[in-house]
Amino acid sequence: CGVFGIYGHPQAAPLTYYGLVALQHRGQEAAGIATTDGTNMYSHKGLGLLTDVFKHGELEGLSGYAAIGHVRYSTAGANTLQNAQPITLNTHARNFAIGHNGNLVNAKWLRIRLEQEGSLFQTTTDTEVIAHLIAKAGAQDLTEAVASAVQQIQGGFSVVILGNDELIAARDPLGLRPMVLGQLGDAYVVASESCALDTIGAEFIRDIEPGEVICIDAQGLHASRFATRRARKMCTFEHVYFARPDSDVDGWNVHAVRKRLGGILAEQYPADGDIVIGVPDSSVSAAAGYAEASGLPLETGLIKNRYIARTFIQPSQELRDVGVRLKLNAVRSIVEGKRVVLIDDSIVRGTTSRRIVRLLRSAGAREVHVRISSPPYVSPCHYGIDTASEGQLIAANNTVQEICELIEADSLHFLTVDDLMAGFGFAKGDAVPFCNACFTRNYPTALIDQSLSSPHHE
Ligand code: 5GP
Ligand code: SF4
Ligand code: MG
Repeated sequence: CGVFGIYGHPQAAPLTYYGLVALQHRGQEAAGIATTDGTNMYSHKGLGLLTDVFKHGELEGLSGYAAIGHVRYSTAGANTLQNAQPITLNTHARNFAIGHNGNLVNAKWLRIRLEQEGSLFQTTTDTEVIAHLIAKAGAQDLTEAVASAVQQIQGGFSVVILGNDELIAARDPLGLRPMVLGQLGDAYVVASESCALDTIGAEFIRDIEPGEVICIDAQGLHASRFATRRARKMCTFEHVYFARPDSDVDGWNVHAVRKRLGGILAEQYPADGDIVIGVPDSSVSAAAGYAEASGLPLETGLIKNRYIARTFIQPSQELRDVGVRLKLNAVRSIVEGKRVVLIDDSIVRGTTSRRIVRLLRSAGAREVHVRISSPPYVSPCHYGIDTASEGQLIAANNTVQEICELIEADSLHFLTVDDLMAGFGFAKGDAVPFCNACFTRNYPTALIDQSLSSPHHE
């Protein structure tokens, strides 16, 4: 998911909309914005892309000088309007709205406790658990209530909370999910990625610290900690796949990291190829790095249709081949008779890679050597990235040689975790500020809900 917040600007709602457009890659299933004018709160949300949700002038109704917004990619809870964010809650103490990126590892456990104590849930999201914890904290000060709530949750979270006259942002103690702080004139801005700041012309101030809670109100900005400082565990998959290449995440530019990973692939796992092709869009940076390091020409051998969103109606089984080519097509004049080195950022389920290998061969490629700019994805993420269960992860159930055969490639290589860390400038054996759990099965938190049976989960 993507989150955005702004405080102290007369155009809070439209700026939030544009900020969210820059974060649309982080979630295409639902979107929403909540605003405040100091007296009343307004909100609108719906299913689909921002352009779908706000196509009938709904932004005009969202008045006020502060706003939060959300784009949703479901990791917990079904894709229903009910589960769209921001979630708004009205209690005897206050009204507030909340938007959340990430996934909690103790949400089920907390929900059972909250329901035993009388909380009634409207949605199936873990975000509502945070909302109820804030509501129950009851403290007069919203920041204190938020601090108390985020001390009880565990896992990955970047949250934005809008009160009647304040904006609060908090980032999980390990820094699993990203969040940045910026400034636009006198207004403060928070966002999942720095590309959202660039888009609205805001200046980047800094990354929000893991374990930090920031309150912005008429008095200005106040930063404090809700958790003690500890080793960071930033999600490497943000750099590998999820974040936009023009974003800087925790001091590293995403494009530059991907390009270095491509270079390491070329040095460690060279291929006898004629041309290098990256799978658009997320692998073009790594492909550029591979081409530069190998000396092979970088070619645009695959063209992506820019107008296919995830919400697009998929063709029926009989039209399956149309489905593949709708999204991606090969350029025959480029690949015909060539030995292609195909760069992709990751293999999760393995279906994409096989389709692309077949596509290249049917356009005349003589050989297809696949190089992946991350390690084998062997274990599910519990912090907000992917929904695939272990049974669906091709690398959890097959060796690299078996995957190579399954995707019908002539050869296949992945990076090792050490190679991946080298892309950030770390040497083998260094303590690294990253989570690599989906590659190593070494999770940086306990997986509390995994030991519970699940009455609520769909
Ligand atoms: P797969 O192996 O699952 O068929 O697809 C891997 C491809 O999907 C890669 O090209 C990668 O860019 C992309 N990918 C990786 N992680 C995710 C994810 O969490 N969601 C989506 N929609 N695509 C992903
Ligand atoms: Fe990111 Fe993987 Fe860790 Fe999930 S398990 S937070 S995808 S590095
Ligand atoms: Mg891809």
